[in-house]
Amino acid sequence: MFPVLTESELFSRLKKRAQNFEKVRDAVKKIKEMVLSSGDDGLIKLTYELDGVNLNMSTIKFPPREIEESEKFISPSLKKALDLAFERIFDFHEKMKPQNKLFFDSYGNLMGKIYKPIDSVGVYIPGGSAAYPSSVLMNIVPALVAGVNKIIAVTPPKTEPMNPAVLYALKLCNVKELYTVGGAQAIFALAYGTETIPRVDKIVGPGNVYVSEAKREVSGVVGIDSFAGPSEVVVIADSSANPRWVAADLLAQAEHDENATSILLSCDDSLIEEVRVTLQSFLATLESEKAKLSLFNWGGALKVKDIYEAIEISNRIAPEHLELMVKSPMTYVEYIKNAGAVFLGLFSAEALGDYIMGPSHVLPTSGTSRFSSGLSTEDFMKEMSLISATSTGFLALSHHAGEIAKAEGLPAHRLSLQIRNGREFTGCEPR
Ligand code: NAD
Repeated sequence: MFPVLTESELFSRLKKRAQNFEKVRDAVKKIKEMVLSSGDDGLIKLTYELDGVNLNMSTIKFPPREIEESEKFISPSLKKALDLAFERIFDFHEKMKPQNKLFFDSYGNLMGKIYKPIDSVGVYIPGGSAAYPSSVLMNIVPALVAGVNKIIAVTPPKTEPMNPAVLYALKLCNVKELYTVGGAQAIFALAYGTETIPRVDKIVGPGNVYVSEAKREVSGVVGIDSFAGPSEVVVIADSSANPRWVAADLLAQAEHDENATSILLSCDDSLIEEVRVTLQSFLATLESEKAKLSLFNWGGALKVKDIYEAIEISNRIAPEHLELMVKSPMTYVEYIKNAGAVFLGLFSAEALGDYIMGPSHVLPTSGTSRFSSGLSTEDFMKEMSLISATSTGFLALSHHAGEIAKAEGLPAHRLSLQIRNGREFTGCEPR
């Protein structure tokens, strides 16, 4: 049964969940050593051990022709849905794309920031237990909008044919380079390169605990996006919410992964009870072992005094998704400090955001929304500052800059300023 928890029980559950993630660290380090020392051979061995699939050097790379022909194998309604999702995600990211900003100060100096795309990006498409065409779009479309030159994708191999919807989503994004390697090994291959898989500048994409831990491990060798691990939702619901809708949203998150977590915060005892009973009956129909484990082990409901207390608790959890199924939800937005994405009102089902609204569903998990954000076009761009000084500006500011150089004991810095004022190097000047 979906448990009713006290506040301390809720936070100790979350702590235990986070500690469980850390337990994979040693296993991931071993995978790293294997990929670094054996390259493609290591990938082939690991894929056999972990995915039960026999790869060889020529099957690591997926045939681009099958991506091209994928459209034939999906229904017209799914094609239409993916086409619409692509358009909406593209449009959203175009509107949110960072713009170059330049300005002149009072001396006529020009300063500002300009944005340049990252050259090559590797995208992890999760696919151990489910196929995620939505993750293809949510990861790659922001990169397309940013203007990334080379995008390559990796996904776990299957014993059965590759999911055609995943392939069609890749086709929509014009990605032809797909490697059928998953888990931590795929992340290390992208970060360091193997004989077949080229190394990239940045790796993005959600995945299970092994994938997330591997991304943490390669951070600094390559760029990574946020820590997007097993999914989470906090639903804050008052008596205006329909308990069946609340239960469905909690369940939707739980079915992702046995390590996913779904939390309900409400001041209404009877709503909590109805949600619990409904969840039980939904679970009986859904028959998802993963959802059951997730709801029982990591989820729970907590009775709160009011919506402000619920938001205060949610801010401490810093969830990936926060749903406000309350009257006048907009009133509370100013109090929300930490969440990957916020869904306002009864009709803003988190599943709409997963697929079709526009913002990327790749969001920070495990409390990392305290300091990081969901995937966006900015993740695929670098910011460069631009400085163009006028002679007036130089004359007005160089003396002050020289004073700071002197204080820092850097005479050549001072020289490079003084020389433009017609003064030459006088040797080591006193500090
Ligand atoms: P996955 O592709 O992330 O992981 C599957 C791979 O994990 C396998 O190919 C295997 O190589 C590796 N693996 C499995 N067991 C292992 C073990 N014992 N040791 C070492 N490696 C092992 O697919 P998944 O498992 O289905 O997980 C997808 C995850 O992505 C879920 O947790 C889901 O919640 C998450 N997700 C998150 C977001 C987000 O934005 N945060 C979005 C979509 C999906």
